[in-house]
Amino acid sequence: MSAAAASPAVSAPAGGAAGCGDLPVLRERGQREVFCGLTGIVWLHRKIQDAFFLVVGSRTCAHLLQSAAGVMIFAEPRFATAIIDERDLAGMADANEELDRVVTRLIERRPDIRMLFLVGSCPSEVIKLDLSRAAQRLSKRFSPSVRVLNYSGSGIETTFTQGEDACLAALVPEMPAEPGRARSLLVVGALAEVVEDQFLRLFAALGVGPVRFLPSRRAAELPPVGEGTRYLLAQPFLGETARLLEGRGATRLAAPFPLGAEGTTAWLRAAADAWGVDAAKFDAVTAPGIARAKAALAPRREALDGRSVFFFPDSQLEVPLARFLSRECGMRLTEVGTPYLHRQHLAEELAMLPAGVTLSEGQHVDRQLDRCRAAKPDVTVCGLGLANPLEAEGMTTKWAIELVFTPIQGYEQAGDLAELFARPLARRARLMV
Ligand code: SF4
Repeated sequence: MSAAAASPAVSAPAGGAAGCGDLPVLRERGQREVFCGLTGIVWLHRKIQDAFFLVVGSRTCAHLLQSAAGVMIFAEPRFATAIIDERDLAGMADANEELDRVVTRLIERRPDIRMLFLVGSCPSEVIKLDLSRAAQRLSKRFSPSVRVLNYSGSGIETTFTQGEDACLAALVPEMPAEPGRARSLLVVGALAEVVEDQFLRLFAALGVGPVRFLPSRRAAELPPVGEGTRYLLAQPFLGETARLLEGRGATRLAAPFPLGAEGTTAWLRAAADAWGVDAAKFDAVTAPGIARAKAALAPRREALDGRSVFFFPDSQLEVPLARFLSRECGMRLTEVGTPYLHRQHLAEELAMLPAGVTLSEGQHVDRQLDRCRAAKPDVTVCGLGLANPLEAEGMTTKWAIELVFTPIQGYEQAGDLAELFARPLARRARLMV
């Protein structure tokens, strides 16, 4: 998962986004401290309720999933690892035959499975196991009751949330075609069900619809897509999925991401504008949510106002989170690190960042640690591997992974989102007394 050290480079962005979009970005390459894309399985298997994720990998991959999924592994989860052992590596067993046997046994044992993802890993890629051919072969064998797809979650190709992008991208060709030019709204990116339901109510009140979600809760009910599809990204890490949706005729509604009252309002407005909803109606529908979000934010803002925050790269959520923390919670941004900066999808977010913020893309973890120590931020957002060592140095940290597992989008979650950052500060304050 690491690459050779190279000097960091500062480069000016391509394109002409306004405001902070013109800021130089520190691009770094070197040792990284990030999850691979396999981790996406931990939340995706809960979301798509009749899918199973079979990682074709090594014991390392199995251990990673076990530790990332925590206690979930005791709840008969719908994921597992088919371990490539020495016999497969030495070519003594035909890995394809072995895989077919494992999949057949699995499908016999779990008749509830409607969609099976073969998930590639570093070992399966290194031995060049062709999982897309395997998926086609197995799909033929088990169709129509089970569809078999594949994507890669390997650390060579994907970082953390990019695993979701790869999974959703594998779903796009499977989506049925929307007949004619019927207009529909597609919300793209896995959201907690409670958040989906809140958004559905808001869109219904605005008269925007029909509204569908990718991923859908059931694999058999994939939403249709076509020329009339307008899509809103609910997550910032879905570059490939977006590209494929556009290949099928869908059009992206440019918007910031639905974090905080401001982000949620602008996100809803993008859809409302596309549907021609008038301003008075929009204000009437959104006003109660905005008021509740502001009321919930007020006490947290008191705790966060003027405090500084430093983001290590993890999920690509860093830029929208930084925008929310600076504009709605009054926090000072020191460095905002992201594993990958999708300028087009983040243009509205970048334009809202305060001037002077340091953006970094990629990672050279030692250099970044040096910058973090020099900045002495009040809160450092980082992965589990860095959090405890930094706490031991006296810094206050927030585990980035929680931001992916917790419902944080929409008006009703704005207070909880701020609370995720206020809590570590409150805990440290209590321990100091
Ligand atoms: S896919 Fe690669 S990076 Fe991820 S756990 Fe397996 S070996 Fe490690």
